[in-house]
Amino acid sequence: MSFKQFSFDRRIMAGIHACGYETPTPIQTKAIPEVLKGRDVMGLAQTGTGKTAAFALPIMQRLLEKKFSGQGPIRVLVLAPTRELALQIHENFMELGVEAGIRSAAVFGGVGAMPQIQAARRSSVIVACPGRLLDLMNQGVIKLDKVDTLVLDEADRMLDMGFLPDIRKIMSKLPQRRQNLLFSATMPDDIRDLADKILYRPATVQV
Ligand code: AMP
Repeated sequence: MSFKQFSFDRRIMAGIHACGYETPTPIQTKAIPEVLKGRDVMGLAQTGTGKTAAFALPIMQRLLEKKFSGQGPIRVLVLAPTRELALQIHENFMELGVEAGIRSAAVFGGVGAMPQIQAARRSSVIVACPGRLLDLMNQGVIKLDKVDTLVLDEADRMLDMGFLPDIRKIMSKLPQRRQNLLFSATMPDDIRDLADKILYRPATVQV
């Protein structure tokens, strides 16, 4: 297996080389073709399996295929349960997207909002914790009306932490027509319910 099989843009391939990735991990081999087709995906995978790149790479490839300026508006929204995870995902997007000129911003609570708002205005991708994002949306300083791709990462942890009401409010402000990716380490009933509600004919990938 090689990254060549996905026919990525050469700028995406350059990002992969910059990160030192040589071969795709199992979750990448399974998820990347489905995301590239534009399908909704239910991914059952733990952190450490390479799942971030499994969604980041095909999302960036699709960004390059659309009309894309390298700056805003925000096209891709990734929701994550903790600031640590949000930062990791953001850094992975930045590293993989450096050659493609794709910018990402991280949005999480506990620190000043202004730098995050400014970064978000220049970015196509934001990686956010639900509470802070909803705050900034309510203040009208972050706009998500051009988002066409939503990722819920570690969705089981987000629900355990009580983020479901915030996630619902955020989703209600997104354009209806979009690609949805839901990643979770486990598949309890509440995740199954959420998947049933938000995913349209999903491809299920599991490692
Ligand atoms: P994740 O599961 O997304 O948190 O990724 C775990 C670690 O694996 C991160 O440090 C990634 O940079 C790294 N990684 C992701 N994909 C690959 C790959 N294809 N080859 C080598 N390392 C990878």
